[in-house]
Amino acid sequence: MDPHHPSYIDLRSDTKTKPSPEMLQAMLTAEVGDDMNGEDPTVNRLEAMICEMLGKEAAVFACSGTQSNQMGIRAHCLPGDELLIHELGHIAIFEGGAPAILSGISCRTLTGEKGMLTLENLRGKIRADDQHLTRTRLLCVENTTNAGGGHYYPLEQLTEICDWAHENGLKTHMDGARIFNATTAAGYSPREVCAPLDTISICFSKGLGCPMGSILAGSKAEIAHARRSRKIFGGALRQAGIVAAACVYALENNMERLQEDHDNARFLAEQLVGIEGISVSPEATETNLVFFDIQPEIGNAMQLSKALHDVGVGIGAMGHTQLRACTHLNISREQIAQVPGAIRKVLKAGIDRYQGISTGPYARG
Ligand SMILES: *Cc1c(COP(=O)(O)O)cnc(C)c1O
Repeated sequence: MDPHHPSYIDLRSDTKTKPSPEMLQAMLTAEVGDDMNGEDPTVNRLEAMICEMLGKEAAVFACSGTQSNQMGIRAHCLPGDELLIHELGHIAIFEGGAPAILSGISCRTLTGEKGMLTLENLRGKIRADDQHLTRTRLLCVENTTNAGGGHYYPLEQLTEICDWAHENGLKTHMDGARIFNATTAAGYSPREVCAPLDTISICFSKGLGCPMGSILAGSKAEIAHARRSRKIFGGALRQAGIVAAACVYALENNMERLQEDHDNARFLAEQLVGIEGISVSPEATETNLVFFDIQPEIGNAMQLSKALHDVGVGIGAMGHTQLRACTHLNISREQIAQVPGAIRKVLKAGIDRYQGISTGPYARG
């Protein structure tokens, strides 16, 4: 089924959200100016709102989460440096190798539960100060984790690893593409969770429902550096207030409702329990991402994803057997309630006629 069909239930990503009429109205009436000269009042307002919310000195608006992450990395590192990151981190695997291309940085990937790092995972991973060795410069954390399963960092764990990083001369960057899903689920404030971080990147184009836009927050010096990088990366904009107005609207109107997405995700996970051939853990569904697996004897994740697409349900394959369903503001409880039936239906009909990739969408060989 065409994803634009009105009855298509699109759980492929929270990036699928479309701006509401009210958001579009805010964009239409936005006061704008030349942002590259710091003259766009709406961008300035958005940056000030984020500074206030996160307790940081400065912020800079960016086109995408990839861009704001890369601006952050470049603010902390010099060519030849390495950053420490979980092996499932977006920065390491879903940004096209950008740290190496844009800043000459290598990603040193580490293992850890649920896409998160602990002190045990990190200890001993900072290289000695020696001319032979790559300089370890930055710790990157993701909150909530994406490929890691939609989990949020416990505040204590996050503080502990960031304190350790700082004590050892590293900087800390948080890929907070879904940071407000984390604050909603964990119950900590944006200020609390951002306090141990030097820089934080946030996406407006995910659960907050904006058509585009991200932001990087940090110290005055770091953000001044990031502003230069934004220009170099081709991301400095002019009347960006048209987009920033959507982001301001989202901060004022779409934050409270994130809990609904989490409730819908948990509801979906609970409804998937007991479907033969599917394994899922409702307790592990902490935010808006529902991960579940198909038994390999029945078929692989890609085959199930394609079969569901045909009957009007968009759920992405993440690995050989793993799928990810993502709830968001354009998805209602009623739509969620139709998903288990659709899965039962396609499994009953059999999914082996669909071409599947044996290793999943993100691997080959
Ligand atoms: C979506 C996302 C980003 C940003 O991706 P863009 O495609 O640049 O919008 C960064 N980190 C995580 C964890 C994400 O899920």
